[in-house]
Parts: sequence; structure tokens; C-alpha cells
Amino acid sequence: MKCTVCKAPAVIDIRRHNANFCAEHFLRLCRDQVVKAIKDFTMIEPSDRVLVAVSGGKDSLAVWDILVELGYQADGLYLGLGIGDYSDASGEMARAFAHDRGWKLLEVDLPTEHGFDIPTGAKAARRVPCSACGLSKRHLFDEAARTGGYDVLVTGHNLDDEAAVLFGNVLHWQTDYLGRQLPVLPARPGFPRKVKPLVRLGEREMAAYCVLRGIDYIVEECPMAAGNRHLGYKDALNAIEAVSPGTKHDFYFGFLARASELFTPAVAAEQELLQVCARCGAPTPGELCAFCRLVDRATDREPVPVSLGRRPG
Ligand code: SF4
Ligand SMILES: [Zn+2]
Ligand SMILES: [Zn+2]
Repeated sequence: MKCTVCKAPAVIDIRRHNANFCAEHFLRLCRDQVVKAIKDFTMIEPSDRVLVAVSGGKDSLAVWDILVELGYQADGLYLGLGIGDYSDASGEMARAFAHDRGWKLLEVDLPTEHGFDIPTGAKAARRVPCSACGLSKRHLFDEAARTGGYDVLVTGHNLDDEAAVLFGNVLHWQTDYLGRQLPVLPARPGFPRKVKPLVRLGEREMAAYCVLRGIDYIVEECPMAAGNRHLGYKDALNAIEAVSPGTKHDFYFGFLARASELFTPAVAAEQELLQVCARCGAPTPGELCAFCRLVDRATDREPVPVSLGRRPG
């Protein structure tokens, strides 16, 4: 197997590109795909202060690495979710990565700062763990970007993630989620711009990128993910991709080009109605935001009565 670009021995084949790459040209391809995603969707300006949500997994460490290589001013943010050994090990990976490179890693610890961890909090609030976790992560990422003065929040969602989420949302016709499933969500009062620069790269490519760049990442999946629907959607799409390379890409980018606009007006109307959480200041449709309500339930705290919700000024 030879590199399609330079004919040196190849280290990876990418069937959807119908091409093979040596290490040098594969790393270049990864960077070029990120540059293209940033340009096509106007994700990041050169002067932006960038905050990367870092989990210790391959995608978030790789996207941080690529953005710094490309010259962006990017700091990391690690959230301690209190998911037993998994959180301990992923935190160590994120810290070691940042420390070895002298890069700035912010940390927020959910149990220390908000009094609950994901497994017990989810149970107390009668939510599935990934729902409590997703809600907490969104809230804490937004808050950290807001208070740290960052212009843009980067997540490491790759093509496999986005295609699987889209697949699930289409199977269940979750039109409100379809209206939000974009590689860029513009900044709004209380929210930073949110971008996904890895949407043109797959899971296997990100693992190969980390190996070739010598990046140690946590390989184990979060134990809370076992049996969740998202993994089933990924398996189903992998089976289709195996017989029809390029399907995930066509599915996701076809949606963005031809269908996503159909679902955005409803979301825009919903956003008009947001006010400010009376306790923490986050945007919310009610008086207390979903995160503050989760904290109350997860910590068994009596909800604090709130007389007046404020509208954003
Ligand atoms: S799998 Fe679920 S619980 Fe685990 S980190 Fe992801 S969203 Fe959180
Ligand atoms: Zn080559
Ligand atoms: Zn709140």
C-alpha cells in the first residue's frame, strides 16, 4: 500500500477518499480538513480566544493539538464529572497532555463545586446519566467561556459522532434537535459561539492522528455509555459505511446543505423567549435554568423560591 500523494509506504487507507497516506501526508490531510471546516463554516477568526472542551479522549486532545499547530490561541477546559476511575484516568490524561506542552488547562470539578457527581446526581434527579451529564457539560462549558472571556468554544465531535446523532434525530424525528445540529452555533447573549472543527474527520482517523503525533489518550469508553442508543446508531452506520464508503459523509453534509434550514426557524423562535436564570444568570426559558434545577434535585436541596425572572438587558 503506497501513499497516494508521494508513493512512500502508506500507514492508513481512507476508503471514503479512495486514497492511502504516509504519516506525513496523513497528518497534513487532518490539518487541511480542519482548515477547510473552519473556513467553510466560518468557525474561528485568527484573533479569537478559543476554549477547547477537553475530555482526555482522542478527539478533544487532537483538535486542541491541531488548533495550536494552526496558530490559534487555544486553552483547554476539563470538567471533572465524578464518574469513578474513568474520571480520574481521563483527568490525568488531560493534565499530562497540557503539562507536557506548557498549555493552559482550566478545570471545573462538578462534585467539589456543585455538590454532586453524575452517577448519583442522575439517579436522584431521575434522569439517565448521559442526560444529566450532557446538560451539566453544556452549562459548565458555557459558563467557563463566559467568565473567562473566550470568544469560541470548541468541541471534539467528529464525523462519526455527528452522523450518529443525526441518524438518531431523524429516526425519531426530533425536529427541535435537528434545528440545532450545526457545526457552528453562533454566539448569543450568555452563550459563546460553539464550533466542531473535526466534522470532516472520522473516529478512526482521529485515533490514527493521536498515535502518529504521540498523544496519549484515554481509550476506555465512559462506563455510563454502555448500552446507550448512540452507540447502537454508530454501529448501524459503520455497517452501512463498510458496504458503501462515504455514506456517513454524504448523510451529514447532505443534511447541512439541503435540509437543516428547514428546521432552524422553530429553534430561532424558541430562543427569542429566553430570559436569564434568576440564580446563575444563564439563559433559560423559565425562571431557573435546567442546570440549577438539576443541582437542586441532585443535592436534595429545597428549591429556592424565585419571585421574578429577569429578561436579558
Ligand atoms: S457517556 Fe454519558 S455520562 Fe459518560 S461522559 Fe458521555 S455523556 Fe457523560
Ligand atoms: Zn506521502
Ligand atoms: Zn441557573
